[in-house]
Amino acid sequence: MLTRNSEDTFGPFICSVCGERNEISNLIGTKNRNHCRKCLSSRHLDRDVSGDRASDCLGIMVPVALTFKQEGVDKYGRKKQGELMIVHLCDKCRKISINRLAGDDDEAEILKLFSKTLSLSEAEKESLKEEKIEILEEKDKDEVYRQLFGNFIKN
Ligand SMILES: [Zn+2]
Ligand SMILES: [Zn+2]
Repeated sequence: MLTRNSEDTFGPFICSVCGERNEISNLIGTKNRNHCRKCLSSRHLDRDVSGDRASDCLGIMVPVALTFKQEGVDKYGRKKQGELMIVHLCDKCRKISINRLAGDDDEAEILKLFSKTLSLSEAEKESLKEEKIEILEEKDKDEVYRQLFGNFIKN
């Protein structure tokens, strides 16, 4: 179970999926951590908006895909590059939510999620598309590495 504190974020918690102890620290941008840094799973706590903690579903939010944050277009009409986001799907009520990565998320796990994204079935891709979620494709690999490890991959 996650423990909640009086503020709208929750304190250090033990992941109910993999048992990892997750710390909260402003330094690594995890004040609003809402998923486990090791297995990237989360609990369905929010009902209407991120952080409201008003849901009593408490299903497991399973990481199912990666997407980029939609940032619109620049003045030349080119799509702006958004940051990497995790798509979570509740295993109990099927609610979908999109969440930012935290600075100490396990990179290997994120790369695994990238592979998983590429191998989703057409039906799964279709249902995400219906939610207006554009999941990553093979061509996004360089950008994924750039965001995770810095700009050292030369084309
Ligand atoms: Zn975990
Ligand atoms: Zn749920």
